[in-house]
Amino acid sequence: MIAPLRYQTVVIGGGFFGCSVAVALAEQGRKVLLCEEADALLTRASYNNQARIHNGYHYPRSVLTALRSRINFPRWIEQYRDCVVDDFEKYYAIARRFSKVSAQQFRSFMERIGAPLEPAPARVTSLFNDALIERVFTVRECAFDALKLRNLLEQRLVDTRVEVMLNTRAVKVAADDGAISVTLENAGANERVVADQVFNCTYSRINELLAASGLPRIRLKHELAEMALVEVPEPLKHVGVTVMCGPFFSVMPFPARGLHTLSHVRYTPHGEWHDTDTASRNMGAFLKENRPPTNYRSMLSDAQRYLPMLGECVQKDSLWEIKTVLPASEEDDSRPILFQRDCGLKNLHCVMGAKIDNVFDVLTECAAAV
Ligand SMILES: Cc1cc2nc3c(=O)[nH]c(=O)nc-3n(C[C@H](O)[C@H](O)[C@H](O)COP(=O)(O)OP(=O)(O)OC[C@H]3O[C@@H](n4cnc5c(N)ncnc54)[C@H](O)[C@@H]3O)c2cc1C
Repeated sequence: MIAPLRYQTVVIGGGFFGCSVAVALAEQGRKVLLCEEADALLTRASYNNQARIHNGYHYPRSVLTALRSRINFPRWIEQYRDCVVDDFEKYYAIARRFSKVSAQQFRSFMERIGAPLEPAPARVTSLFNDALIERVFTVRECAFDALKLRNLLEQRLVDTRVEVMLNTRAVKVAADDGAISVTLENAGANERVVADQVFNCTYSRINELLAASGLPRIRLKHELAEMALVEVPEPLKHVGVTVMCGPFFSVMPFPARGLHTLSHVRYTPHGEWHDTDTASRNMGAFLKENRPPTNYRSMLSDAQRYLPMLGECVQKDSLWEIKTVLPASEEDDSRPILFQRDCGLKNLHCVMGAKIDNVFDVLTECAAAV
């Protein structure tokens, strides 16, 4: 019998976080295998998202999340410079009613965390419905181009000699004589590899692998999210707008498609669920089979009350993805990383970054775990 291939590290999941973890560990001289179920890297949550590089403004109810973003924003901009898109003006608007923060609270919070903001110019405030919007602020926030990010990570994986297996699903992990064996499925055939440590970076599917391996699950909350991809009217072409903080909306440039995403706190989620200890869903299949009709009309009709010009948007498509957060995030909308060591097996670590600027926090934890 041929002995299974042996690696120091196996990383499961080729999204932004899996790729980043694989590159960082290979840079330390480790022999790393990265396996990804899809036929390309960064096709799931790392592509299907709002493309926002957070700089603190989005989290006026979580000082820790806001502060971490303030610290990580300049590092992200520096290290992924070619993927950063900043050729647009960004505005945060505060609604008069139903907002969880007032304009004064928003301003004080941003001053406290050192996030630059100033009153938006009259040419911009005049675009908003004054009866519904209390104040509009000019802020500094950027977007990222997910296709350029994919290219960059592909190159870094080559440069660091990470072995990448596409179309390869990890179906199970198990203890193996002090190491971990990983069963991989490729084109219907199973193969086993062995590693000193394994990183489960499968985001919405972290529990699927744990359950298939008979290991305890992590408490996670999922929602099926839709972001409409729209062509915005000319005056909004180089503009991003977020109305904070409550049941409102964002319209953000989505550079990978040359369009904007329109997302709405009430209409983007099409349903939510928690993983239970008894049932496991195949999230990929769930997404394909249960895609409901678009909520675009509802998103638009509410958003255009605040910013009437949005009525001229044309929907081109929608991005659909399962969004996964820690249950604690429901309280204050925070986005801490999940880094859970030894998940039922020694040296099996589960990683969820929650937002892309958290990558530096994740890599610090990874370095400490090996
Ligand atoms: C709707 C939405 C909007 C968001 N907006 C933003 C935003 O504006 N800014 C921001 O910073 N963050 C945002 N996020 C969060 C951000 O997208 C995620 O934190 C990040 O992309 C997660 O990266 P990941 O590598 O963990 O997951 P993914 O990119 O989903 O990668 C996981 C990979 O694992 C693979 N996989 C799963 N199971 C297996 C298996 N058994 N074997 C092999 N491969 C497997 C999948 O195919 C996938 O490629 C948003 C997320 C969503 C869903």
